[in-house]
Amino acid sequence: MTLCQNYDKVMGAIEQACKTSGRKRADVTLIAVSKTKPVPMLQEIYDHGCRDFGENKVQELVDKYDVLPKDIRWHMIGHLQRNKVKYIVDKVFLIHSVDSVRLAAEIQKEAEKKHVDVNILIEVNVACEETKFGTTVEDTLSMIQEIAGFSRVHIKGLMTIAPYVENAEQNRQYFVKLKQLSVDIMQKNIDNVCMDILSMGMTGDYEVAVTEGASYVRVGTGIFGERDYASKEN
Ligand SMILES: *Cc1c(COP(=O)(O)O)cnc(C)c1O
Repeated sequence: MTLCQNYDKVMGAIEQACKTSGRKRADVTLIAVSKTKPVPMLQEIYDHGCRDFGENKVQELVDKYDVLPKDIRWHMIGHLQRNKVKYIVDKVFLIHSVDSVRLAAEIQKEAEKKHVDVNILIEVNVACEETKFGTTVEDTLSMIQEIAGFSRVHIKGLMTIAPYVENAEQNRQYFVKLKQLSVDIMQKNIDNVCMDILSMGMTGDYEVAVTEGASYVRVGTGIFGERDYASKEN
């Protein structure tokens, strides 16, 4: 299958998942996770209509940003180090992976310098996996209350990375939990915080995530094929 056929297949599965769960197709956006993949591959699905791309490394995002069309919405989905925030604040559409007040404070500082506003999601480690970044469910509200005070940083919702599982149904519980957490936080009516976005679901489980309310699904392998881990560290 070609990249475009893969892309269409994922789009079709999203549409089907929307139908079976009574959701509007327009409420779900597919992010093509292009980490480790070369620019011509991104260009191929860009030409096919894709405008949302996800990267997990700052340098790679910036390199691709520089050479690809400017109407692409770049999503930073990987762990972000504070010393690299300055390179992307004015380039990203959304940072999915904010998991500390210190990181948000750095984003605020750099956003002020560049006179931009930055939209973020709070990454929640719903499944409590030791190997993953993200705040705990218990700490999410207090973290959001602090970050809400930053004038140039705008919390738009929550993100989670579910465990790697054979059967996607095993991850349904985590998607339900993230959705519930976002409803609980929304009901607090915190200034400068909205809970419109749920970023959840990857190649193995995005259909389940859509049925549980995902607004962004992040699909890499399902579009681009397996990543070559031998030549890259991610
Ligand atoms: C790599 C990655 C994805 C995509 O994973 P696939 O299983 O290839 O679809 C999604 N989200 C994050 C945060 C990632 O790092």
